Parts: sequence; structure tokens; C-alpha cells
Amino acid sequence: MTYDVAIVGGSFAGLTAALQLGRASRTVGVFDTGRPRNAASPAAHGVPGWDGTAPGVILAAIRKDAAAYPTVTFHDQAVTGLTGQADAFRLTTAGGEVTARRVILACGMMDHLPVIPGLAEGWGKWALHCPYCHGYEIKGQPLAILGRGPMALHMAKMLRSDWSDDVTLIAHEGDLGPEAEAEAAALGVTLLRSPLTHAQSLTDGARLTLADGTSLHTAGLFLHADTSFAAPFVAGLGLATAQGPTGLYLKVGAFNTTSRAGLFAAGDVTRPAGILTPALSDGVVTGTASHQSLLWPERFPPLQET
Ligand SMILES: Cc1cc2nc3c(=O)[nH]c(=O)nc-3n(C[C@H](O)[C@H](O)[C@H](O)COP(=O)(O)OP(=O)(O)OC[C@H]3O[C@@H](n4cnc5c(N)ncnc54)[C@H](O)[C@@H]3O)c2cc1C
Repeated sequence: MTYDVAIVGGSFAGLTAALQLGRASRTVGVFDTGRPRNAASPAAHGVPGWDGTAPGVILAAIRKDAAAYPTVTFHDQAVTGLTGQADAFRLTTAGGEVTARRVILACGMMDHLPVIPGLAEGWGKWALHCPYCHGYEIKGQPLAILGRGPMALHMAKMLRSDWSDDVTLIAHEGDLGPEAEAEAAALGVTLLRSPLTHAQSLTDGARLTLADGTSLHTAGLFLHADTSFAAPFVAGLGLATAQGPTGLYLKVGAFNTTSRAGLFAAGDVTRPAGILTPALSDGVVTGTASHQSLLWPERFPPLQET
């Protein structure tokens, strides 16, 4: 059987796309390895109607909605390769080869944390990527930033302005220029120029130890992790990409078309910084666009690189 649309990634973006396609009675295969990007986080915030709800609860509800449509099928297995073209894509999966007329890449991004003992245990709990997602719960408490590049001072200004009077910027990799002292002082932020060597999880955040012996308590340590495509085969497809502050992401055109005809992309894989609600919105756009591209392929040309 050839699916009308195969979706790689059955999380916020992919499930939402499946819902639209199921409502058009189109055959959809959703392939998913069950590791949404925010899996480590106990609660998702800033999601209208779901504020403070566990990511798994939100996903289970969306999957239940999509599963109500009989033409939507789920396969809890990885896609490891994609060849072919519009109307005749071939996906390699653990269960064998699958064919599809259209494909949506909704397989997300992988975060690569700096290798520091204790840091990975805190990811999504006190080691945080975004103050909008997790800052309100710890506002007014001691906060820290693991400084990497220009975004560190950007984060420092945001946190000091609207989340806490007690903000420490740790210049972990020493890549903050000499002007950082004056900028941090002007913001009222403490700048420590010593690498973070160890983090210990506490019930109210973490204790951070620096190479020079400094020890401090923080309720939240904000950092930007490097990123890569969560599905390794995506990097080998030769699609148009753009460089974001943490890694490459897919360039998409109107209606989330990629640079290959018939291949769409949705969610974090298409943007430099991940946030959940746009992933849901992308699911709607790619679900409806992939459906309509079956009817009017000429209206959904591939993205042209300029
Ligand atoms: C720690 C943390 C906390 C966050 N908290 C918030 C928050 O509070 N609020 C908010 O708005 N945003 C939050 N985000 C961002 C949010 O998690 C993402 O924006 C959102 O998960 C993106 O959805 P997605 O569907 O694009 O990708 P994902 O949710 O990452 O899903 C991708 C799916 O594809 C699957 N997959 C990957 N490779 C393959 C493959 N080869 N074959 C098959 N399936 C595959 C994965 O298993 C996964 O299920 C947070 C991010 C992090 C890192």
C-alpha cells in the first residue's frame, strides 16, 4: 500500500498534521520513536489551553484525536532513510520499505548539552533553554546563565529585567569578549569568568561548582544547547538549510514546502529556536498543504534557493 502521506515524527507537529489529513479521509502513516524534545520537562508552559500540563499528557490527547480517524495508522518505529520523489517516495523503516506520495518531516531536533557532570540530569527541570517556557515558576529566585556567545548577554538582559534581581552569568567557554564586564555591570548581572565543572541537583534547583572553586545555588540555569536533526538521515537529503545560533535547520517556503517537490517539513526542524505552539500550527499548515498538493501539485512548488 502507498500512503497518501507519510509523516516522520508523531509529536506535536506530526500528530497535528495527521489530524488534518485524517479529516480529509486520506491514508496517513505516522512513524515515531517516542522522544519529543521536551520529554525531560515535567510540564509545558505557554501552550494555550494546556499551560502547565505534562508534555506526554498533551501528546496523548492529540494522538487520541488523530487515532479516531480510520485512515490514520501509527508505527512506533524509526525512519532511517528517504529516497524517491513526489508520488513515489520510499521510506526505510525497521519494518521494511514504505511508499508514500507525500512526506512530512516532523522529526524535530536533538539537543547536545555541554559535557558537565550533573548537567544532563537537570535538563528540563532546572537546566533550562527558555524563560518563557520555564522562567515564571522560578521568578525572583537566584538564576544563572551558562554563557556561550552573544546570546548570553541577550538572555542576561531578559532575565535581569523581568525574572530576577539575582542573575549570575558564568562565562563557561571564555568566549565572552572583554566588553562583557561593562555590559554585565550595566545590567546589574554578576559575571564569573570560570568554567562550570559540576552541577548537583537539589530539590529547589542546583548547586553549581566552578573551576576556581566558586560554589553557588541557582533555581534555574539557562543555556543554549547545540542542536542537530533528531533523525540523522535528514542531514543527508540535500535539502536547503539555514544556520541558526545553535545549528542547522530546514529552510521552508510558503506552506512549509522544502526544496524537494512533495516533501514538507513541520515543527522545530524548520526553525532556529523550538517552541511548541508554532509546531502545532505547522502541523495544520503541512497537513492541509500536503493534502491539497495531491489535488493541485503545481500550486506547491519546491522552495527555490535564492
Ligand atoms: C527541555 C525542553 C523544555 C521545553 N519546554 C517547552 C515549553 O514549556 N513550552 C513550549 O512551548 N515549548 C517547549 N519546548 C519546545 C518544544 O519541546 C518543541 O518546540 C516541540 O517539542 C517541537 O515539536 P515537534 O513536533 O516539532 O518535535 P518533537 O516534539 O521534538 O518531536 C519529534 C518526534 O519525532 C520523533 N523522531 C525523531 N527521529 C525520528 C525518526 N528517525 N523516525 C521516526 N520518528 C522520529 C521523535 O521521537 C519525536 O517524537 C521545550 C524544549 C525543551 C528542549
